[in-house]
Amino acid sequence: MIYGARVRQARELRGLTQTATGKGAGLSQGRIAQIELTPIVEISDENLERLAQTLKVPVAFLQRPPLEDLAEGSMQFRARKSLPAPVLRQARREAEIAREVARHMLTKLEGPSVRIPDLRGMHDMGEAAQLTRSALGLPPHGPIPRVLHALERAGAIVIALETWVDGKLDAFSTWDGPELDLPLVPIGQGSSWDRIRFTASHELAHLVLHRAPCSDLEKIEQEADQFAGEFLFPREDAESEFTKTVTLSRLAPLKLKWGMSIASLIFRAADVGAIDQRQKTSLHVQLGARGWRKQEPGADAREPEQPRALRKMMELLYGDPIDVRRLAEDFPLYASELTRMIKRYADAPSWRQRQRPVQPEGQAPGVLVPFRTRAN
Ligand SMILES: [Zn+2]
Repeated sequence: MIYGARVRQARELRGLTQTATGKGAGLSQGRIAQIELTPIVEISDENLERLAQTLKVPVAFLQRPPLEDLAEGSMQFRARKSLPAPVLRQARREAEIAREVARHMLTKLEGPSVRIPDLRGMHDMGEAAQLTRSALGLPPHGPIPRVLHALERAGAIVIALETWVDGKLDAFSTWDGPELDLPLVPIGQGSSWDRIRFTASHELAHLVLHRAPCSDLEKIEQEADQFAGEFLFPREDAESEFTKTVTLSRLAPLKLKWGMSIASLIFRAADVGAIDQRQKTSLHVQLGARGWRKQEPGADAREPEQPRALRKMMELLYGDPIDVRRLAEDFPLYASELTRMIKRYADAPSWRQRQRPVQPEGQAPGVLVPFRTRAN
């Protein structure tokens, strides 16, 4: 006996069509479609074996009761016409598996309580960013040393995705769980360090502001970008940094200090009125002429931030180093896949090493995301 929803989940996770799945398993496309729509399916051992093999999952995976589908969340906001639907589904399924692992572990561990504010309906992005900083326990001013860490400390589960498409699928975010009170931020690996920070801040905006459906998708995206700028580089800070004529060479050190791309800093300078429209255009043209639109200077100045919380939870429950066989008893996936998953998250030593401060004088190093075993 297997669950139809698990077959569909595994198939979409692997980016397979029903036809290809049927072919591999010796079943018709119609039979696969039928299986996927049936809650509980009786299937012969031989067929089950072949189906699991085609889907590259252990038989036990298909026999495990499924959770509800992961909500699309902010995935629906982006204009991703150029991105094929199967890729989006694959990313969503991948995030779905990680959230199942997280939710299971959260029944045994107590994590930080969720402190991501609900600011639906607010349209002043400066105010929204300030209120969010405050809710997350961040100071109103100054650079944010590590954005992913700030999210994790505020109770969000940051998921490191294997599925990633350069510039098209960086991240998405959604509220999960029966009460829709668990914020998830699945994020692709491979972006530049400054882009990961901006993307994570953009998704934070969606969690804070865009829970209710809205038809004006362009406005939603603009708001999220605006919020990210205000969150990373608050207006008062920006006003005091942009006192001299804004040039590309003056922006380069600000990139390292504030952890934002030079391109984003140009937008920020325009936002706070330090440059006018003409200067903004001119700076963007110069950026292109120097080849910085493809790669800005300072690309290797910092390590890209990696999430930590999910791996930390695994270490607490399955040992450090993580006993993958024990983990696989709770989450029936092949060890190789679980190992790849684990490696996308920071381990404790690399996490500490990556606390390279944004400012030369440094900030107080953050503490690890707090988790402790639930008292039963
Ligand atoms: Zn967005």
